[in-house]
Amino acid sequence: MKKITILIPAYNEGENLVPLSEKLHSLIDSDTEWTGFPKHEYEWEILVVDDGSTDNTPQVLGSLRAADPRFNHLSLSRNFGKERALLAGLDYATGDCVVIMDADLQHPTDKIPEMIHWWEEGYDDVYGERTSRGKEPFLRRKMSKAYYSLLKRYSDIPMLENAGDFRLLDRCCVDALRGLRESERNTKGLYCWVGFKKKGVSFETGERNNGKSSFNFMRLLNLALDGLTGFSTAPLRFASVAGFATSFVSFIYLMFILAKTIFWGETVQGFPTLICVILFLGGCQLIALGIIGEYIARIFNETKQRPPYVASHFNGKKL
Ligand code: UDP
Ligand code: MG
Repeated sequence: MKKITILIPAYNEGENLVPLSEKLHSLIDSDTEWTGFPKHEYEWEILVVDDGSTDNTPQVLGSLRAADPRFNHLSLSRNFGKERALLAGLDYATGDCVVIMDADLQHPTDKIPEMIHWWEEGYDDVYGERTSRGKEPFLRRKMSKAYYSLLKRYSDIPMLENAGDFRLLDRCCVDALRGLRESERNTKGLYCWVGFKKKGVSFETGERNNGKSSFNFMRLLNLALDGLTGFSTAPLRFASVAGFATSFVSFIYLMFILAKTIFWGETVQGFPTLICVILFLGGCQLIALGIIGEYIARIFNETKQRPPYVASHFNGKKL
């Protein structure tokens, strides 16, 4: 019998886990056919990764485990962030395929049968494709659009725009992803990087059930920077091209000043020009240094070779 793992990263989701597990149970325990899709016999595992929650998530997970032994939970020793929590989950998942979903009920459980259907048809990565982005602030939506068009244009791999973490991964994808141990993770990019046969399934993002999103502007910006620097060296190229362009323009200007001085002489003037040029070039240099710095910071972090996460308990037992 094939085994399916449902993997859920959770950070302070105590209020959402019970309604989510009810939904999941009504899906996996129902005797009736799934609407539109034949229901084969599967073995199920629900694996929640507690990403260092500080609310009642551990207690809720304990009681869910007591009620159903198919329910497993892994606790990380502190909050490592969703991307690393996902890697931890993939390491501990035992299924032939893994369905990843958020704990806040934004991902509809009734799409899972359709995903499984396509998996049975031979697809390795069945990703949820957002048809709407839910109630998202205008600025966040615009910035994310700009970010994806930048990434699509300059990254070395084909990026999928509306595909997030709600997806079904075959064991071959899971094992490939587990092989990518980088600490500065951008999982959305990694799904594309590993390749395999992909298929989109459209879904509507629901509203968050309880609590608020833990991805504030700074966290999203960091994730976006990880995506850009992790999958493209275009910013470095941009810095060198901009450097060449400025040098070229400066050289022409230099020739002009030289000719002007030789033929017409020079009365000492031009303080504003001087200041403008110094400030402009200083700015360009700082930007270029900043870009190089972003890459060096990532090299620095990766060379430390720290494990991406530390797990402390599995099903309440110390590891
Ligand atoms: N999450 C996590 N660790 C974190 C932040 C979030 O495991 O440090 C989980 C969270 O519990 C949820 C999922 O990642 O299941 C998505 O988080 P959230 O709803 O805050 O993000 P959004 O839906 O706004 O992208
Ligand atoms: Mg959410």
